Amino acid sequence: MARIKYYYDTETCKYERIKVSKWDVFINLLGIFSLTLILAVGLLFVYTSYFELPQVSLLKKENRELEAYYEVLKQDVQRMEKVMYALEERDDNIYRVIFEADPIPTSMREGGVGGVDTYKDIIEKEPEREELIINTFKKIDNLKKKMYIQTKSYDDIVQMAANKEDMLASIPSIQPISNKELKRMASGYGLRFHPILKIKRMHAGCDFSAPQGTPIYATGDGKIARAAHYGSSGNMVVIDHGYGYKTKYMHMSSFEVRPGQQVKRGDVIGYVGNTGLSAAPHCHYEVWKDGKHVNPVYYFINDVTEEEFDKLLELASRENQSLGGPLK
Ligand SMILES: [Zn+2]
Repeated sequence: MARIKYYYDTETCKYERIKVSKWDVFINLLGIFSLTLILAVGLLFVYTSYFELPQVSLLKKENRELEAYYEVLKQDVQRMEKVMYALEERDDNIYRVIFEADPIPTSMREGGVGGVDTYKDIIEKEPEREELIINTFKKIDNLKKKMYIQTKSYDDIVQMAANKEDMLASIPSIQPISNKELKRMASGYGLRFHPILKIKRMHAGCDFSAPQGTPIYATGDGKIARAAHYGSSGNMVVIDHGYGYKTKYMHMSSFEVRPGQQVKRGDVIGYVGNTGLSAAPHCHYEVWKDGKHVNPVYYFINDVTEEEFDKLLELASRENQSLGGPLK
């Protein structure tokens, strides 16, 4: 409904009717429309500057959560790496040293973590996060591999510990006859005058003088390799202890064991006698390591104190004559 408007004409002193053209109406409408548009754009600008669309704020929130999650993950990985490093250090420097085993080579610990291809699927989904994803997964894979190698290493160590126990029980480490007062050591290892052959020759063992029938003990766990009469050695027992060790006991009066039998350290294997090339009842005792005879005095450690050991060492090193021994 168009309202009729008037204006006061000063020349005619009358109210005159205002004539509104269509053009005027159009201009007015255009003005209103422009103003509305400007106002709307302004409002939108203000709104987007100070407020976010719900989807955007949701995505941003998710992103912040992911970043926090990643940060926690990164810190976890770093902590695990530190623990792993400490385990490796301990493994190489303590356990493997105790058991005289070579440390695991670094190349084995570090090597062979899956290439970039392993993470291809993940990267295809999130290409912009490529570096972050690869690094994190690489670190985790590396840790997994290290853990696997470390567990294997601990398996080895457990095995070595079990072997070590067996090895310690097997290596000869007591005297073959009871020698509490250390009066039995008659002659030691080295060049000695042979009482029957009447010449100075290599005496490859220790002589323990004792009355006929005194028990002779196995000096370590092992298997009886021989128990028979061998000419100049007389009645002899040979024990194979494994780990390269053998012990020989000669001039026995009789045996308590037969070949093939398993013995423990301290088991009676026979009795002191005077068989073979022997000048008086005694036990000629030899220790062999890797096919060579060695000084038995260094294998008496288990049943003597430090002082007694010194005394034995002194007794065994006296260059007296032996009580006998085999020809070879
Ligand atoms: Zn001898």
